[in-house]
Formats: sequence, C-alpha cells, structure tokens
Amino acid sequence: MQHRFIATSIPYMNAGPHMGHAMEFIIADILARYNRSSGNDVFFLTGADEHGSKIYNKAKELGKSTQEMLDEHVALFQELGTALATTPDDFIRTTDRVRHWPTAQAIWRKLEAKGDIYKKKYSGLYCEGCEVFLPEKDLDNEGNCPIHHKKPTLLEEENYFFSLSKYEDQLKKLITNDTIRITPEFRKNEILSFLGEGLNDISFSRSADKMPWGIPVPGDETQVMYVWCDALTNYLSGIGYSFDQNKFTKYYPTYLHVIGKDISRFHAIIYMAMLLSADMETSKNILVHGFVTSGGEKMSKSLGNVVIPEDIMKTYGSDALRYFITVGGGGVGDDIDYTPTGFHNHYNSGLVNGLGNIANRTSTLFCKYYPNGSDTDGFILDEGIDGVIISAYTLYKESLEAFDLRAGYVAVSTLIDLANKYFDEEKPWTIKDDPGKLRDILLNLVEILYHINILVAPYLPRTAEKMREIFSLTDSRLQDFSLDAGFRLTAGNKIMRLTTIPLLFEKIS
Ligand SMILES: [Zn+2]
Repeated sequence: MQHRFIATSIPYMNAGPHMGHAMEFIIADILARYNRSSGNDVFFLTGADEHGSKIYNKAKELGKSTQEMLDEHVALFQELGTALATTPDDFIRTTDRVRHWPTAQAIWRKLEAKGDIYKKKYSGLYCEGCEVFLPEKDLDNEGNCPIHHKKPTLLEEENYFFSLSKYEDQLKKLITNDTIRITPEFRKNEILSFLGEGLNDISFSRSADKMPWGIPVPGDETQVMYVWCDALTNYLSGIGYSFDQNKFTKYYPTYLHVIGKDISRFHAIIYMAMLLSADMETSKNILVHGFVTSGGEKMSKSLGNVVIPEDIMKTYGSDALRYFITVGGGGVGDDIDYTPTGFHNHYNSGLVNGLGNIANRTSTLFCKYYPNGSDTDGFILDEGIDGVIISAYTLYKESLEAFDLRAGYVAVSTLIDLANKYFDEEKPWTIKDDPGKLRDILLNLVEILYHINILVAPYLPRTAEKMREIFSLTDSRLQDFSLDAGFRLTAGNKIMRLTTIPLLFEKIS
C-alpha cells in the first residue's frame, strides 16, 4: 500500500465552473478511485483560489461583498463535483484563515530565510485583466494585451521578488530525469525548452493598496502575496502543513497534480522551485490535460458554442460525461472536441450497445434459467476467457499508472467485447437439451461481467453501483470489488444467484 496524494488545480473563483473544470475533476477522480481500488491510501484534494484584484473587482461589479460572491462560486464548484460523482477528501479555500493562511505565511518565511525573497523596484506594462506585467514581445501589433485587446498601463511599484532563476539548473535535472515526471512527454519537452531559454526572477507580492484582497506578507503590512505563494501553497495547507503534522507527513510529497495545459509552467517551474527553496521534496507527477473544444473551436460566448456540463448530464447522466472525457479524445493530454453527434455516438456504441447490453442480457437470461440460483460445482472457467481477464488487468494497471485513462478503458472494452461476442457465438438462449453446457456458458459470462464491473467502477461509478446489484452478493469478501486479477467469483461462490436490474443505459434518440 502506498500513500498517494492527488490534487486538482484550484480554480479561480471569479466565475462559476465550466466544461474544463468538469474535465479536470473527472480525470482526477478516476485516478483517485483507481488508486483506492488498488489498495492505496489516497488523499484527493480540490479547492478554490480566491484572492486577487480580479475577484475583488468582479464582486464590486456585481454589487456583492467579496466573501458573498466567493461563497456562491464555491458552492457551484462543489455542486458540480457532486453531480459528477467525484470523491474529494477535502476542499481547501485560500480564504481559509485558519487552515490556509498560516501555511502560506510559513512557506513565505522559509523562502525568505533561504535568502530567496528580496525587494525590488519594478516598472513594466501591466494588464489589469491578466493581473501580470507583460513583456513587450508578448503584446500584439498595436501594443495591446493579446487576450484583453487593451493597452497595458505603465506601472512602477516596489515588490518582493522570488529568486526563481537560482533553481533553473536543478529543475532541468529533476525534470529531465523524471524525478518530477511530467506527462505527456510533449509537455515535458515544452517545459524543458522553456527552461532552456533561461528563467527570470518573478514578482512575488503586490502593494496592499492595489490588491486589498489577499494574504498579508509576513512582517510587511503594505504588501500582500501574489498568486504564487498565496495559491500554490494550497497543496501544502490542504494536507495539514500548519495544523496536522501527522496527516502532512503521511501524504507528502504530492503523488500527482492534475492540471490544465495553460498552467503547466506555474506548477512544473514556479511551485517546484518554491519547494526546492523551502528544502522540501518536489512532487512526483504532473499530469497536464488539454481543453474541451466545441466543434473544433475554443468555447466562447460570442461563438455561441459553450457546452454546459449540467445540460449534458440532464440528458445522459454523469457517467456518460465521464465516459466521454475518457474516450472522446486522442492521446493523453490532447484536447477533446465536443459535438452533440460525437457525444451521442460514443454514448450509443460504448454504453448502450456495449456495456449496457452485455450487463442486461446476461443477467436477464441467467435469471430466466436460474431464478433460484445455480450451483458452481465442478465449473472450470474457460481457459481463453481466463487469459483475457488476466491480460485486461495488466493493461489496465499499466495504463492507469501511466495516467492513460483511455488505454485503461480499452482494457475494460476488451472484456465487454469478449462477453458480447461470446454471447452471440454461443447463443445460450438456443440450448435446449444440454443443461451442463448452458450453465457453463452462463457462468463464463457471469465471471466476465463481474470483472467488467470491477474495472469499470473508477470510470463509471454510478453505473458500477447499479451493476453490483446483479450479483446479489452478501458475503463481504465477495463484495470487496477491489482490483485482484487472480480472484474468480465463480470459484469463490458456491451458489450463484443473480438479480435483474433496469436497463443501465436508456437508448436516447
Ligand atoms: Zn490581458
């Protein structure tokens, strides 16, 4: 058993959640559930990034108090997490003065004690929208911010800086040799080539006048922390850095960050450098996912192509959305393109005709022939089927240890396809005069279905819950449903009794 701390990034609370957040929750939750069913002790953390002038200004614009707006947004994120059947162990808010602030301030002091924080006059072109100083090379031809199409303002202020450049070589080494493993490989290369251009020290605070909504810099009331020490430290406060030493020791260092491609540098470079400066172990893995596009375009209000996760779930259910995020894209870290037709086709072929079909027809036929159950005396699982089950587990584990959700699901599909094909070829409903053969065919199917149920659970938890009803298992050992490639239900259970269940997936036209 290993202790594995898995964290999503903490979304910025200037607005409610969108499809990209749903994607990140789903990916992280599948990996958290997989690790739990593998017997690991998982701590799965999500949370909220709640400071900064954008949030302060947005609340003003809405005529609300900042805290009131934040509470509303946080509730929306938590509702989405629940709707998607995600299973975080905690939710850390950066406005939490009891659990979060002491950690952020303790880390600041550690970096300062190391001599990595210094004060410097800084003048540059500042975009209010981005909340960053933009280098001139990043402006468009008119000298505007390329995102906000507004002229940045020339701003001079004295801020604290963090000696990021000091850690350039160390980071290169740790990322190159996978001590900090960045997945997929092309994102790792991107980070390495960025490091190759050389790092500049970064501004680490803001004047409290300009950004009243933030965590005070320890020992200097005139300054508040900028996002780096304010928000990235949630991965430390979230596991108890300043208030639960036992928990912290148990789960540190971070096993996995699940983050979007737009913030990979913040995690792979800035946060890792902060940990090095604090003499702490760096994170083991950073999984960088892509975005959900809509009909080949970035989702935007002006294009009218914004896809709302709740709308999809209303029609298809949460597991269908989890399924689409799993199989709808290409390789690990690629964007996933949503179209209503594409989604619908995945739903029909994978869930209605694939998984749902085999679960419902196996249980229905079994119950028809054996309403009071069948014995398993002398039953020997088909050797070919046994082999496919074993190799499915191997592929499944290898894929999920490499964070390849899609390949992991291919392993599940191998069993679904095997069962459907076996059912069609053996035609158990036509067997009239060979009860021994009929029983063996149905028990073979039951065994495959049981393993499908186990392997599919991290992906489609609500469906897996319903499937478990099929097996009517009362023995707690049989109800365990943890990953065990060697366990055979038909060998461990003297009487096999199944229950029919309602259709797992309704056909939707
Ligand atoms: Zn901007």
